[in-house]
Amino acid sequence: MSNNISVETVVVVGAGLAAGKAVQELRECGFDGRLVLYGAEPHLPYERPPLSKGYLMGDDGLEAGLVLPSEWYDAHDVVLRLGTRVTGIDPVTRTVTAGADRQVYDRLLLTTGARPRQLAMADDSGAPVAYLRTVEDSDHIRSRLRAGRRVVIVGGGWIGLEVAAAARRAGAEVTILEAADLPLVRVLGPEVARTFATLHQAHGVDLRVNTQITAITCNGGRALVTLADGSSIEADLLVVGVGVAPDSALAEAAGLRTDNGIVVDEQLRTSAPEIFAAGDVANAYHPRLGRHLRVEHWDNAIGQGVVAAQNMLGKEVSYDRLPYFFSDQYDLGMEYLGNVGPDGYDQVILRGAPEQGTFTAFWLRDGQVLAGMHANDWDAMDPIRLIVGRRHVAGLADQSVDLTQVAADLD
Ligand code: NAP
Repeated sequence: MSNNISVETVVVVGAGLAAGKAVQELRECGFDGRLVLYGAEPHLPYERPPLSKGYLMGDDGLEAGLVLPSEWYDAHDVVLRLGTRVTGIDPVTRTVTAGADRQVYDRLLLTTGARPRQLAMADDSGAPVAYLRTVEDSDHIRSRLRAGRRVVIVGGGWIGLEVAAAARRAGAEVTILEAADLPLVRVLGPEVARTFATLHQAHGVDLRVNTQITAITCNGGRALVTLADGSSIEADLLVVGVGVAPDSALAEAAGLRTDNGIVVDEQLRTSAPEIFAAGDVANAYHPRLGRHLRVEHWDNAIGQGVVAAQNMLGKEVSYDRLPYFFSDQYDLGMEYLGNVGPDGYDQVILRGAPEQGTFTAFWLRDGQVLAGMHANDWDAMDPIRLIVGRRHVAGLADQSVDLTQVAADLD
């Protein structure tokens, strides 16, 4: 069994947040062998949430977003291969190849993340088009956000809405083009998604839903977007945020099992026992949810990076943290815990004052609380953590009972 093989060399491919957390955990667990980190980007592992929030608005610097300070890697003897794209993995000889560079491993962690879905119509138009994934993307967009500029955002997801908030703060005119009938409706359902639509409209965003783009052309250096209803909009910048696709090409070429990302078990082990995957790219079996799940959020990268490191050293830890994410848009901060899943929900409980932007929401199915969130009600997160996953929670739908009390009364 591979667990008995002594671990002398650990290689991590993909230098994002999950990778940073994994190398840190490996050293903290006492691993003193060779540790090599490959990253296609030229940067040390950094956190991406600020790229569409504080960093994009110029409030936060890049240093604040580093997972670990640069001195840490030297002090902990991590071999950094940044700006180096791994080109192949051979699970038989346990070798990673990056051009002429070859590196053998005893354990390999794949944290290759995800890439923005491309909108070919935009890319082919010659118009100014931006995606947001890397620090350079964020720098590029920030340099174009000015008072009086018109920004058209394709996609009313997390990227679209956070960029809209940053662009409005910079004084730009903003139009969001969303294909569905509300932004974020697939994640939050109409009851809560509506509050985000209202929020953006109240901040002057021209939110267009049920839109279908029929053409994008370049007109004097500006984008001209034509919609199916015959209308058209000009833009100084077109920001495309239509989701991401897991970057599992290396794993697939190496013969690992892939299906909506790299398929891993609850210990984050791939179909090759010495290879693990974590973060956006990992489609992991979730023992509490009883199904595979790929989560594209910050907290998942942190938690899975740590657990993958532990398991590479022979521990047998299941990753069972429920998905968690947060967002900041204008003066609204929100946190969400749980996962509604493919069967959907049959009840939503809203507490507080959604119309004023301060509320909690719970999504239930057959009496079980599948997910909960708050907007601008930071004290609610502790009770939400206790309530999500529970069945038939007394007092949850009764606004006269404080949420803390509802959680305290759980048996
Ligand atoms: P996303 O959250 O998946 O949203 C993509 C949005 O684009 C969806 O509303 C989608 O609608 C819409 N869409 C898809 N194709 C479209 C088209 N052709 N025209 C118009 N709209 C279209 O993805 P994202 O906003 O691009 O974010 C990328 C990744 O970064 C995600 O993994 C996201 O979770 C992560 N992220 C997270 C945060 C956070 O946690 N606060 C912040 C930023 C980014 P349908 O759903 O109807 O397809």
